[in-house]
Amino acid sequence: MHELVLASGNRGKLNEIAALLNQLPVVLSAQSDYGVPEADETGLTFVENALIKARNAARHTHKPSLADDSGIAVLALDGEPGIFSARYAGIGATDAQNVGKLLDNTHHLVGSKRACCFICVAVFMRHEFDPLPIICQGVWRGCLLDAPRGLQGFGYDPIFLPDGLDRSAAELEPQLKNAISHRALAFRNLVLELQAAISTTAQI
Ligand code: IMP
Repeated sequence: MHELVLASGNRGKLNEIAALLNQLPVVLSAQSDYGVPEADETGLTFVENALIKARNAARHTHKPSLADDSGIAVLALDGEPGIFSARYAGIGATDAQNVGKLLDNTHHLVGSKRACCFICVAVFMRHEFDPLPIICQGVWRGCLLDAPRGLQGFGYDPIFLPDGLDRSAAELEPQLKNAISHRALAFRNLVLELQAAISTTAQI
């Protein structure tokens, strides 16, 4: 078994990602178990921020690490809020404040102009100086609702209507969301790449 450290202290995320990795010979720990300080997300893209988080976890634990960075992007707003999704209405903003700001900034958009997507970039680093990290992405397309619907999930789920469904992401059963979301897509791709790395080198 290989131990991987997840660059997050969020237990919900850890359990969700551990379930996606369950065919691999790995055990996942949270960086908070090692007292790893949060990294400053100073990148300008999801991939840069995911690399910063993974490198920070590998540096402090001396173990292989996994990280993800995610958010929602509205095409008509040039990808806003994007990497600023968690802090769209300010540092420490609540989900309701972020959702309120996005609804205010998009109230003039109609029809296809409300197209948006959730994005997740997942990164695996063998060690702090890994020159060739595994990087995978997942995109979940949909459109913005005019008002929140549903009580499940978190973040922007209540105003995201996934393509092909008639329920917001916050109205979906968690198992369904976790099977089709941007995070599921990114980590499913990452699992395939990790499987290939393990089978060709007998190690990761
Ligand atoms: P992070 O990847 O944990 O930094 O999350 C970034 C932010 O993007 C979250 O705080 C949410 O606001 C938003 N976000 C990312 N994934 C989701 C999702 O699955 N549903 C709703 N909001 C999300």
